[in-house]
Amino acid sequence: MHDFKYKKNRLYCESVDIEDIARKVSTPFYLYSYNTLLDHYKKLVSAFGPVKPLICYSMKANSNLALLRALVKAGSGLDIVSGGELYKALQAGCDPKKIVYASVGKTEAEIRQAVAKQILFFNVESFSELRVINKVASDLGVIASVALRINPDVEPKTHHYITTGKLTNKFGIDFKTAYNILQARGSFSHLKFNGLHMHIGSQIIQSTPYIQAIKKIIEFIKRVKIEGVTIEYLNIGGGLGIIYNEEKPQTAKEFASKILPLLKSTGLKIILEPGRFIVGNAGILVTKVLYLKKTPLKNFVIVDAGMNDLIRPSLYCAYHEILPLKQASGKREGLVKYDVVGPICESGDFLAKERKLPRIEEGEFLAVMSAGAYGFSMASNYNCRLKPAEVMVKGNQFYIIRKRDSYLDLARKDKIPEFLK
Ligand code: PLP
Repeated sequence: MHDFKYKKNRLYCESVDIEDIARKVSTPFYLYSYNTLLDHYKKLVSAFGPVKPLICYSMKANSNLALLRALVKAGSGLDIVSGGELYKALQAGCDPKKIVYASVGKTEAEIRQAVAKQILFFNVESFSELRVINKVASDLGVIASVALRINPDVEPKTHHYITTGKLTNKFGIDFKTAYNILQARGSFSHLKFNGLHMHIGSQIIQSTPYIQAIKKIIEFIKRVKIEGVTIEYLNIGGGLGIIYNEEKPQTAKEFASKILPLLKSTGLKIILEPGRFIVGNAGILVTKVLYLKKTPLKNFVIVDAGMNDLIRPSLYCAYHEILPLKQASGKREGLVKYDVVGPICESGDFLAKERKLPRIEEGEFLAVMSAGAYGFSMASNYNCRLKPAEVMVKGNQFYIIRKRDSYLDLARKDKIPEFLK
């Protein structure tokens, strides 16, 4: 599942002792395993092999250039959601013909940049957005390709913040509206309607919601075919879940075995947009224990990483396994119930609550596991904290793939107006 393993009681990433990195780089930092990243990508390629999908890694999960480059070199396309992501996707060397662009709120300027680059297609989320893409394509004298993002109204059984395919969510277009749009396709002179897209949510551990959604979309394709609409691509989005705790997500192979018969029946070119599945378990957050603090009701472990570094526990009450870099020696056997908290001035700043862990000591290092997806990409400078460094291990080498922020970075863009000087 991943390349973070204990060897002689010390946690290693591939062949590197993580504590050696911690001492050289200082904490907190994100650490990624190149092998794990590539292995997860290849697992999907192989599981869905019979339909030869284009896998567009969803770079919102983690957009570090080194990770993007590794995946692009392995053949991956990219799923983007902003002009900034387009910029980084191109910096990583991604072929624009392997870029798909979702987001309910693409600005005209962002659309212009993507049309000019002739990306594979926009995953379009509303009638109004179609008008803007059509206008921009007409201004530039080109044809832009679009896929309608369908909201199939299925329950993905995940956290409600990351449920995206219900009609109460802001995403996608309901079937009736999509049908009307396709009937009116002739009025969009500069658009090619060549795909359908869905993305029903994230951290989905069962294939059933996908099956329900794809079946509905297949019925829809049959209906519009009668109207003379030809669809070339079916993009089934991302969302495949990973193991954080005790959940048992289906493996890529299991997912594929359930979904492939449906996908094959469409005869369409298939696209997948996984993010978490590829990078989630390929990364950890390494942090140092600053203080132990016992109160009448709690045992707090105060670490040097906070919600600004990893917001998932605060935002979704997400579970991340916490492991010491050095496994407990005999003298500190036995489990203690801890709240592992950061230095931020919020009571919502925690990495784990009421967690039974081997007795912890001040000054030791901890690994917050499964932090590769929606970790650094959601990090902030809240409390004027420096965004952490990012490090990648390949074999027995490690590489700093993003420097830790400096104090200069914190003040660089602020401006004191003349009258205050
Ligand atoms: N595609 C779209 C449109 C998304 O919004 C997301 C995540 O929010 C993804 C793909 C990636 O999801 P995941 O990381 O769960 O695979």
